[in-house]
Amino acid sequence: MDTSSTGSSEGQARRHLLGIEGLAASDIERVLDLAETFFQVSRRPVRKVPTLRGKTVINMFFEPSTRTRTSFELAGKRLSADVVNFSGKTSSTSKGETLRDTIRTMNAMNPHVVVIRHSASGAPHHVTQHTSASVVNAGDGIHEHPTQALLDAYTIRQHKKKLAGLRVAICGDIAHSRVARSNAHLLTTMGAEVSMAGPRTLLPEKLAKTLGVTVYDRIEPALEGADVAMMLRIQHERIGSASLPSTREYARQYGLNAARLALAAPDCLVMHPGPINRGVEIDPEIADGAASVILDQVEAGVAVRMAVLWQLCAEATEPLP
Ligand code: ASP
Repeated sequence: MDTSSTGSSEGQARRHLLGIEGLAASDIERVLDLAETFFQVSRRPVRKVPTLRGKTVINMFFEPSTRTRTSFELAGKRLSADVVNFSGKTSSTSKGETLRDTIRTMNAMNPHVVVIRHSASGAPHHVTQHTSASVVNAGDGIHEHPTQALLDAYTIRQHKKKLAGLRVAICGDIAHSRVARSNAHLLTTMGAEVSMAGPRTLLPEKLAKTLGVTVYDRIEPALEGADVAMMLRIQHERIGSASLPSTREYARQYGLNAARLALAAPDCLVMHPGPINRGVEIDPEIADGAASVILDQVEAGVAVRMAVLWQLCAEATEPLP
């Protein structure tokens, strides 16, 4: 977790989770270990602990979300924080208020944590300048989605008991995927071997160099012997006029089906951050099949976000519940 030197109103250094890039393996392991404790809380008959009583979390979502928004809300509530949800569409943003003014307004209500999703890469970094709260990036443009990578790592570790040495194939619209970026940073830091595959138009060449991954413009070589196949949705909302194959052609060449999955290791996990476009990047029978851990990812999302909120609000002062 990034530690800012700015003092908070309570006199402690403010901490943020803005991205995976720059985190050490020990930081990542710490969140995953904490998430194991919180995972158990979500399976108890009473799914609530009092740890964050008196803390306020504001979820600010300027882009659509199902899993991330709901799980941040549940994570805060299961820790007994007061959670407020703010949607860009129904707020004064639609009346022309700037992000800076909106954040300053929210900050005047003294939140402890601001969780933000925004279409602009770098928006959460900008937000840190205008709030005294800790800031969590819930997905910024094509840049990063750190809690997604953490929940993906949690899910992989849950099933494979390790991350180091695993072969992970990330397939689809790499160019516009914050999920791919955060996962590449996390998995390479943890010693996994990452390959990425997608059509050339969705696969910037320089990525391989900057992220330390192997890049293929066909899906088959990436899948060969893979322990994990992570499928991505085409980010139509970010692509604009870039040339794309038709959906049918894309599904034919890059969709994960039974024949392609057979190239992977026999116990390969199939993952997807959601939302799924069935029949495009993944066949329905694979999405719902025995290798799929897509709903495990969702469950892990609540636990990982509880761990992150707990670290930001309570680690310095509270024992683990
Ligand atoms: N839900 C993920 C994200 O917000 C993946 C996706 O939308 O395709 O980045």
